[in-house]
Amino acid sequence: MSSGWLAIAGLGPGDAALITPQVQAALDAATDVVGYIPYVARVARRPGLRLHASDNRVERERAAQALEMAAQGARVVVVSSGDPGVFAMASAVFEVLEQGPPAWRTLDVQVLPGITAMLAASARAGAPLGHDFCAINLSDNLKPWSLIERRLRLAVEADFAMAFYNPRSQARPEGFERVLAVLRECCEPTRPVLFARAVSTPEERLSVVCLAEARAQMADMRTLVIVGSSRTRSLPHARGNWLYTPRSVPSAGSGGTCAP
Ligand code: SAH
Repeated sequence: MSSGWLAIAGLGPGDAALITPQVQAALDAATDVVGYIPYVARVARRPGLRLHASDNRVERERAAQALEMAAQGARVVVVSSGDPGVFAMASAVFEVLEQGPPAWRTLDVQVLPGITAMLAASARAGAPLGHDFCAINLSDNLKPWSLIERRLRLAVEADFAMAFYNPRSQARPEGFERVLAVLRECCEPTRPVLFARAVSTPEERLSVVCLAEARAQMADMRTLVIVGSSRTRSLPHARGNWLYTPRSVPSAGSGGTCAP
């Protein structure tokens, strides 16, 4: 039996102060760190620690490499940004583990949580996720656009506040335009929209606009977008706007329909 282990860890949104002590302890005990290039770059170098940085879109290969190294006795940390279970490496590791050799099932595998982008963004803006909400990954790399649109319409109909990950990339410039078009069709033009870019890093930029003013170019791949529910309030203060969603909904309810 090897003494290797595998930890799938979240590095949080960017600020080193937002890395949990549990994740830091795993990094301190590791022999190998595996992950997407910019995330591995966030791990402090030290003697005895091997870094294995790879490009995105090779998640399965990266997962197999990490499992293989752990099976051979290495102490491996697979790093993700934010939380590893949110649109990140934890599922990729389990997908590969499920199809891999039976010996991988005896490995010591742990998922160590991190602060996901929507919680970091929400905390900066106030409390937009204070009532029921959902999170949708807007990338259509791993699912068809038709499913994204269906979930979007149903989320609006259920009157969730919505957090959008991966809103817009150079490879998919038109997807977020379509999301905004659907929202304009179904929601009132004053609905608040938060664009939270690079939260907790020196490049952090937050802006709150109403849906009528929201433009696709306001988002990029480092942006987390939160669209309020029909009850989310924008509250001006000295340096911008607080965004919050009250905890309660009157029994008459809220929301509407958003059929295509
Ligand atoms: N596992 C990550 C999400 C990976 S998907 C997490 O839990 O946060 C990558 C997307 O996350 C980006 O396109 C962006 O929408 C969002 N994101 C990650 N870090 C962010 C940050 N510091 N500020 C704003 N959005 C961020």
